[in-house]
Amino acid sequence: MKQLQIGGLVSFTTIDYPGKLAAVLFLVGCPFNCAYCSNSHLIPVGDGEYDPEKVFDWLKNRVGKLEGVVFSGGEALMQADATIEYMKRVKELGFSIGLHTNGFYPQILKQVSDIVDWIGIDFKTTREYYKDLTGLDIAYDKMIESIQYWVSTGKGIEVRITCDPRYVSKEDLLSVAKITSDMGVKNFAVQKYTPYHECECHQTTDADREQFFNDAELKQKIESLFDKVIWRNV
Ligand code: SF4
Repeated sequence: MKQLQIGGLVSFTTIDYPGKLAAVLFLVGCPFNCAYCSNSHLIPVGDGEYDPEKVFDWLKNRVGKLEGVVFSGGEALMQADATIEYMKRVKELGFSIGLHTNGFYPQILKQVSDIVDWIGIDFKTTREYYKDLTGLDIAYDKMIESIQYWVSTGKGIEVRITCDPRYVSKEDLLSVAKITSDMGVKNFAVQKYTPYHECECHQTTDADREQFFNDAELKQKIESLFDKVIWRNV
């Protein structure tokens, strides 16, 4: 088996794993090519910059200081067996395991359900715009399958949407929230889009990006659907 390819590491975070002090490992490779990707250097499958055994030794030294380790990306499940084996080893150190995922690998998600304690999963937009945003036709259905499966496990889940006004309207946001709530999800996060690389032909304004956060009626409707809604507008 090829060893895990790690492309980045955050040594300490209080915001990437709810309620836990955690480290984040950013794994190499992603099947999507999202228009707003802030980690586009991690999309191509290739070699990571970090030696996974040195990272593991470092994690051993963090036992008792950190509570969790989040596997992010890229898409952490794309490395399949290498990710699963590494997750197992990290879990055996005593850490809670978090996963940030785009939901494209429901079958692999099932394989890690005994190891992973909590997931944050992207619901990027409505079915209509999913292919335009991610580049993949079947991405929507895979993501829905992943959410439905994870809800059935009873484990922690946060569904998040990044409101890129080129692919999400306020009506779309409400529609995504309703579909998510109907699947039994209790925690929802609305994230502000940051324009890392916009072509001149399709640029957004501050007002476009803020519209999801300053509409009191929309906020009230979304908050009525969940136990908890996080508005990440920074
Ligand atoms: S799923 Fe995430 S890492 Fe992959 S292309 Fe989209 S934003 Fe980037």
